[in-house]
Amino acid sequence: MSDLPSEWTHEPRKILRFSPGDKVADIDPNSTPGYTGDKDGSEEVQAERNERFADLQEMLYANGRAGDHRSLLLVLQGMDTAGKGSIVKHVVGAGNPMGIRYTAFGVPTEEERAHHYLWRIRKALPVAGQIGVFDRSHYEDVLVVRVHDLVPPEVWASRYVEINAFEKELVDSGTTIVKCAMFVSLDEQKDRLAARLKRPDKYWKYNPSDLDEREKWPAYQEAYQAVLDRTSTDHAPWFVVPCDKKWYTRLAVNELLIEALKSMELEWPPADFDVEAEQKRLKKA
Ligand code: ADP
Repeated sequence: MSDLPSEWTHEPRKILRFSPGDKVADIDPNSTPGYTGDKDGSEEVQAERNERFADLQEMLYANGRAGDHRSLLLVLQGMDTAGKGSIVKHVVGAGNPMGIRYTAFGVPTEEERAHHYLWRIRKALPVAGQIGVFDRSHYEDVLVVRVHDLVPPEVWASRYVEINAFEKELVDSGTTIVKCAMFVSLDEQKDRLAARLKRPDKYWKYNPSDLDEREKWPAYQEAYQAVLDRTSTDHAPWFVVPCDKKWYTRLAVNELLIEALKSMELEWPPADFDVEAEQKRLKKA
């Protein structure tokens, strides 16, 4: 039975899933697909769903400790200010850090550049029982790399198929992949960048190159369209997450994680010792 809060009219994993033919240009970043609630009530729902996520995450971790090889990988892709950091802090952050593996992928280092682009990705994959979080990912190698002509077109063009095969390999080895394409509008991005420039405690989030990327918005839209068209597969579909309303983004990604964890049909691992005997021993101890 679904325990989805009643404000949801549709399951996020269904309503947000990218369908062939969907157009990036038609995405409304200010929308709240499938959700009838508003910001006022969202904190309460979020708090309850944070707990649900934390329980399931702990169960995944406990199973990993008990020999289950499965793991989960959350891929967060989006333009600057879309709210990747906010998901890490307010959604994944509700979990137990013991079972979380967070990696942010920036401009490749010299060492990374000397290897295949998936080299640094493979090194950061979650192990049994973990939730891996990719703050940017291998998709940068068909996004920024494509938009900025960092490699010849024939090189990036061959990567979509390669990425699909790579993700299939991961899924086959027991990793559930949740890919979120996070879309913020140009106007909202401007407001968020302006807010960063007004507050000394937010300067660290600002990067002058963010403005250069803004100028390339249409090229990024095109590159995101190609990513969605070519790498939303049955084994690792994309979810399109509107991001102008932060509270919605958090609720949506939280549900996507809960739904993915539930689909793993986890149970608490049984004791590998005689519980009653141990209770008796403890009494006497
Ligand atoms: P963020 O903007 O996510 O907070 P940073 O300021 O460290 O973090 O920016 C990361 C930058 O690294 C982004 O501009 C991103 O496009 C870039 N980047 C990530 N992966 C690659 C890659 N494979 N090749 C080139 N640039 C990359």
